[in-house]
Amino acid sequence: MYTTALVRLSSPLQYLKGVGPALAEKLKAKGLETVEDLLFYPPFRYEDRSKFLPIRHFREGQSGALLAIVASTRTRTWRRGMQLLFEAEMQDEQGNKLLARWYNAKYLASEIVPGMRLALFGKAEFDFQGGRVFLAHPDFEVLPEDGDPELALHMGRIVPVYEAVGKISAKQIRRFVSGALEATGELHDALPPETLRRFEMPGLGQAIVDVHDPVPESSLEALNTRRSAGHRRLIFEEFFWLELGLLRKQREVKRAVGIAFDLGGGLREKVKQMLPFKPTGAQKRALKEIADDMARPHPMNRLLQGDVGSGKTLVAAEAAVIAVENGYQVALLAPTEILATQHYLSMQKFFRRLGYNVALMVGSQTPREKEAIKKLIAGGQAQIVVGTHALLEKNVEFQKLGLAIIDEQHRFGVLQRLFLRQKGPAPDVLVMTATPIPRTLALTIYGDLDVSVIDEMPPGRKPIATRHVAHGAAKTVWEAVRKEVAAGRQAYIVYPLVDDSEHSPDLKSAQKMFEMHAGKIFPDFEVGLLHGQMGATEKDSVMLRFKERQVNVLVATTVVEVGLDVPNATVMVIENAEKFGLAQLHQLRGRVGRGADASFCYLITGKLNEVSELRIRAMVATGDGFKLAETDLEIRGPGEFFGTRQSGMPQLRFAHILKDRDILEMAREEARQFIERESGSPRMVEAVRYLEENWQRRYGLAQVG
Ligand code: ADP
Ligand code: MG
Repeated sequence: MYTTALVRLSSPLQYLKGVGPALAEKLKAKGLETVEDLLFYPPFRYEDRSKFLPIRHFREGQSGALLAIVASTRTRTWRRGMQLLFEAEMQDEQGNKLLARWYNAKYLASEIVPGMRLALFGKAEFDFQGGRVFLAHPDFEVLPEDGDPELALHMGRIVPVYEAVGKISAKQIRRFVSGALEATGELHDALPPETLRRFEMPGLGQAIVDVHDPVPESSLEALNTRRSAGHRRLIFEEFFWLELGLLRKQREVKRAVGIAFDLGGGLREKVKQMLPFKPTGAQKRALKEIADDMARPHPMNRLLQGDVGSGKTLVAAEAAVIAVENGYQVALLAPTEILATQHYLSMQKFFRRLGYNVALMVGSQTPREKEAIKKLIAGGQAQIVVGTHALLEKNVEFQKLGLAIIDEQHRFGVLQRLFLRQKGPAPDVLVMTATPIPRTLALTIYGDLDVSVIDEMPPGRKPIATRHVAHGAAKTVWEAVRKEVAAGRQAYIVYPLVDDSEHSPDLKSAQKMFEMHAGKIFPDFEVGLLHGQMGATEKDSVMLRFKERQVNVLVATTVVEVGLDVPNATVMVIENAEKFGLAQLHQLRGRVGRGADASFCYLITGKLNEVSELRIRAMVATGDGFKLAETDLEIRGPGEFFGTRQSGMPQLRFAHILKDRDILEMAREEARQFIERESGSPRMVEAVRYLEENWQRRYGLAQVG
């Protein structure tokens, strides 16, 4: 059909027939830059357009595809003028009519005009006012006239439906993809042939064709559930290279020369001396795993995972004792200044008795302060250095860094971890995270890390009673807060915005509500305000006053989300709770329930949609972070939960880290066997080159050697 000369996978899209520079620019803005990007742009749905339903089959509740001519259209107001409806009366070959209705869609009046032929896909609903069945907000596509050479592309077969890219329609994308399929020659298949055979998977070229241009006999269900042979192969492939990269990196780190810390001598005594309380069984287990790693002559690369409040800091402090007693320095990295400052205070407390020198390094310090601290770090006088990103700056030199502890991994990328690693002679790295990830998944996401889990809470913890309260009933919450404060305890009240300048009329801001709480609701209490836009000294002073119980009620934004530890605080109120993600709600709730007193969490919301209702319900039902993680993953998928980019999560195209767990495990095992089998062989060299050239950047594995 197309006569274009063969293009390369790496060719920019503008060289594809029908694309041109202007469109190529628009596609590029959405991440579609090369022919390869287009071939790997997955359809999100398939429609069997060889089988359209006649109109008489569209009864209430029936969904399906319809092919019909637009008989007439109209735009009208609805719900007392609040919304504009666009309606098209559709007529099929038998002469039957069916109304298609789009909400808030006045713009369609210029796109859909009488006489056009449309393919529609949607569900029939019953309209009580009109007394008839109609198609509610269907997907549609304007079809070409008979005799148009493009007709076969969009009709009469199983048609892939793509997500529109900005103003570029699904139909245009279909055209471009088809052009790319025509124009590209044989694709190089880098998967080992015996792997393809073992899993009976098609080659790369075949898989790409299967996915974009399925044969009529294909199972529509398999296509729509992403389990066609083509899909399975493409998903497998993404996981295979990801796992190969991660496993290689893990092996490399394991082989590298590291510090073999001595666990003997008076170490045990020192740790005992430091401990403010008896560690839980889970804490002991985690420490043992860490200590064993530290004793080995290779760098440790371990993830310490534990729900909010499970006591990760104590374990980190124990590990720090091992390093310091061996004459090494420890770096403790936190994602925010507030958290760094908080860790700094706890470390000082932990190590007072041992006489360790603890230093703090954050962005807001004056250049002079920073210079002074850098000197202490370089000279080795600072034994424990707590800090933010500021610690990662090039000119911060440790005299003898032995252990780097990174808190709240999901805010630091993989690369930063490696950068830190370069600061000393291969220090041990311990990453702490409260993001509860099911274990199998953790292995993959942090495939280059070993994992320790703290799965037990410190003794005496009571569950946090969690309630959902509607905006209108907020008063009852303020009464509950009043009762707790009167009994000597403290409360957090969290808002989604800093101040009203953020232009969100239905969201409350911390600034405005602080005035309200201080002036009207709790005039007799000490109310404090904490948000990310305040200066560092201001923040510190509020935090300190809250810690020392001079502030009863702390009005805040999500800056309190990570790590704050004030055991006397027993109430967490979250307003506009529907605006927060589940992981965030759980983190926020974890700020209370840290002492011996019963704690409460109130989720105040406006009107809930389907998703926010599921979240709030899950929060009320369980306090278990792992269960919540599973729920959230079901509701939203991992991108949202982990915050894809910053988390260092790999950018996957066909594969979905949760939905495709079955394939992921197969691919991981296959990659492991490949490494075992081919270690050092020319095939391995070839595979590694391919990995580096094609996948590394996307997977954030750029530093694999
Ligand atoms: P997280 O895992 O969220 O970082 P923290 O380390 O902040 O948890 O610990 C939460 C709270 O539990 C802190 O107040 C800490 O002092 C306390 N804690 C930790 N371990 C124990 C323990 N073994 N016994 C009693 N309290 C503990
Ligand atoms: Mg913590």
